[in-house]
Amino acid sequence: MIIIAGFILAFVLILIFSNRSTRDCRWRAERSGDRDGQRKYRCATCGAVAFTETGKPPRVCLAGEGR
Ligand SMILES: [Zn+2]
Repeated sequence: MIIIAGFILAFVLILIFSNRSTRDCRWRAERSGDRDGQRKYRCATCGAVAFTETGKPPRVCLAGEGR
């Protein structure tokens, strides 16, 4: 019974962290870092930096990538 509860707890934690990694990213434009045709965005939550060509912030969190 304890093992089952442990599995459920781990599963819930994985869900929480996976959602947090993609949903809570708050991208903010950094005009000073703009390249030619690319906008620089920095995530205020995890500190990731991304460049987009569409002028819109990225939809995904880049935490853990390119560090
Ligand atoms: Zn982020």
